[in-house]
Amino acid sequence: MKRCSSCGAVQSDSRTVCIDCGARLGAPVSSDEEAAINEATLDKIDRAGERTELFYTPLILRIFGFVSAASIAALVILLCITSSRVGSVRREMEDRMGALGVVTDGSGDLVFADGSTEHSVLLEYPEKIYELEEISMVALISLVLLIIPMLIFLFPKAIWSLDTLVMRNAYGVGAEPTFIWVTAARVVSVIMFALGAAGTVYSILAFVRL
Ligand SMILES: [Zn+2]
Repeated sequence: MKRCSSCGAVQSDSRTVCIDCGARLGAPVSSDEEAAINEATLDKIDRAGERTELFYTPLILRIFGFVSAASIAALVILLCITSSRVGSVRREMEDRMGALGVVTDGSGDLVFADGSTEHSVLLEYPEKIYELEEISMVALISLVLLIIPMLIFLFPKAIWSLDTLVMRNAYGVGAEPTFIWVTAARVVSVIMFALGAAGTVYSILAFVRL
């Protein structure tokens, strides 16, 4: 085994010039040095293997990531629709009250132009608004829950780099997320995904049934 003195590349004894940089190669290294080089190489491969294991995202988790992204898009649309629906129900209620002619009696209770104090048709509106607002609330919570699983399952390397930056800032140079850390983050993300997905299904079904 020969080691290039200018670039450090390791190559076979039969070579006279470096395979990488073209520099002239000297005498082969001693057997002790050779053992050290081999060990360092194995270490490097081991570490690369661990790193890959850290980034390896099973297909099911990647599917969770895609489902999270698709659900977030659907929830954004649902939130737009429900908020515009709340606006139109409010306007409809005001129009109806205008048509019935509202005269307040000073005590704050509603009295209509025809003398009645209650019109059952008007009671439907606050109920409808309340149902729509409840759906929006569930949709919003689900959307927030799905952001982390989407990022962790679709962009594991970016999240790992971000975690590393934060950890180095807190614990100093060389700190890195461990296998346990990554696994724990994934377990939490799966729970958030399950809750977010259930909330998405609930809010879409509730909206459709409305
Ligand atoms: Zn070289």
